[in-house]
Amino acid sequence: MKIILLGCGGSGGVPLLGGDDGHGAWGACDPAEPRNRRTRSSIVIQAADGQTILVDAGPDLRAQLLEHGIGRIDAVLLTHAHADHVMGLDELRIINRIMGKALPVYGTAQTLSDVTSRFEYAFRPPTLGFFRPALEAVIVEPGQVVHLAGLDVRLFSQDHKVMETLGLRIGSFGYSTDVVEMPDAGFDALAGVQDWVVGCFQRAPHPVHAHVEKAIDWACRLGAARTVLTHMGPDLDWAWMRQSLPEGVEPGYDGMVLESPQDGA
Ligand SMILES: [Zn+2]
Ligand SMILES: [Zn+2]
Repeated sequence: MKIILLGCGGSGGVPLLGGDDGHGAWGACDPAEPRNRRTRSSIVIQAADGQTILVDAGPDLRAQLLEHGIGRIDAVLLTHAHADHVMGLDELRIINRIMGKALPVYGTAQTLSDVTSRFEYAFRPPTLGFFRPALEAVIVEPGQVVHLAGLDVRLFSQDHKVMETLGLRIGSFGYSTDVVEMPDAGFDALAGVQDWVVGCFQRAPHPVHAHVEKAIDWACRLGAARTVLTHMGPDLDWAWMRQSLPEGVEPGYDGMVLESPQDGA
């Protein structure tokens, strides 16, 4: 299967709005490095048969799908209901038209309660022509293995301080965004993965996100061949990370592609 990082930025993206000339506040990031331009964090997972899972639907979703040539989505999985992960749900209306049916949206009871109140109109029965999105809430729980878009997806709980987030594992690939403490059950669920994409917001400790040192510690504990950082803020310059991170740990970038066996351990 193929995994595309649609976006690997923090909640405000990189650059942040503003800056001296209003064209963006880049922080420590070099504006000349294209891999420092980060949209909000989201991935797609494409199975060998072409079925596609979208993980999170942030405010940059439309541009991300166009940029990476994604016109098909079979299932949506939400890690949690923070705005940077759900504000693109309305864009799925056009995917409804392409697919000709409602789209299942998987998440915990809390996540789906939040999004069905914010996007109440999108969770009603479909209209002819899909003039509004047609989404079907499917409640899942950490610890479950759910079968979606032809793939077995193992779900586990992560601590984001202000709420629980869902981590996921498919074959030898793992995805863990928006997490500040990883419970032992999460490490157990991820044991043996080859490729792990994990959220890391900045250099200094942060109340709700892992920082660089913590992400490196986790990477060492898990021992994946390749750990890729995502959900990065403007404090994390791509070239600085390439130089500073230990072997086996690297910064992601928008459009990064990972190939991973979908039936791995
Ligand atoms: Zn986030
Ligand atoms: Zn969050």
